[in-house]
Amino acid sequence: MKNITISQIIEPKLVIEGAGVLLRRSFGPHVSNQHDPFLLFDHFAFNNPMEGPLRGFPMHPHRGIETVTYMLDGEVSHRDSLGNAGTIGAGDVQWMTSGRGILHEEMPRRSAGGNIYGFQLWVNLPAAQKMSPPRYQEIKSSSIPIVEKDGASIRLVAGKMDATSGPVTEIAAAPLYLDVKLAPASRFICPIPSGHAVRVYVFEGAGEFSGEAVESIRMVTFNADGDQLEVKSEAGVRFMLMAGAPFKEPIAPYGPFVMNTTAEIQQTIADLRSGNFVK
Ligand code: FE
Repeated sequence: MKNITISQIIEPKLVIEGAGVLLRRSFGPHVSNQHDPFLLFDHFAFNNPMEGPLRGFPMHPHRGIETVTYMLDGEVSHRDSLGNAGTIGAGDVQWMTSGRGILHEEMPRRSAGGNIYGFQLWVNLPAAQKMSPPRYQEIKSSSIPIVEKDGASIRLVAGKMDATSGPVTEIAAAPLYLDVKLAPASRFICPIPSGHAVRVYVFEGAGEFSGEAVESIRMVTFNADGDQLEVKSEAGVRFMLMAGAPFKEPIAPYGPFVMNTTAEIQQTIADLRSGNFVK
């Protein structure tokens, strides 16, 4: 077994998205596609009730991607052009496959304690599935399994850990997506399929990842040069771990759309204008 090595430690940038929502963005869709099969990772964290009325993400389109919203505190009210409507609460996950087209609204709401805390990950779709029918999976906190291993308490959102499988299924990239809480003075080994892109978002505490010290809040990118990730922590650490096989296809990102060519982006815009985006 060989540890994957760190390629980059990214300090998330504060950006404003939607109707004035302040986010920490680790990376966004870019033609260089260096996080393949992942496209974007945003962290929304508000804890100041004096900020005034909360804005969100009013109706907007997506094509060619899957978005994963995972909440730790507060909630997001959601509705979409498929007729779905619901609330993503603390510990819940929503996995939305935009496929050929979806329109949706995402509106964050504070918890009783005044907080909103969660993550949105965008995962690419392979060319053959970019125009597939849209769908969405909403998973309540109680159906996300917790695996206890080597001092780690792991919420398994997607993928497999030992004999346990996460509840989110039929995702094109078949990613591993974990919320890992490592107890103080522990060492955790996570097996990684060879060739997979691995990204770790450290959001509480600090630890040593493959021998390098990382403090929160940082996004860590790894080389695909091993078959395990080793994490040690003296004080305890909590992080999101995502791993997936790259599609190795060119991408053409444009706002909420990620296609493979600029002609497909032009078609997407033409479909929106002509009313053929959502059928
Ligand atoms: Fe969206």
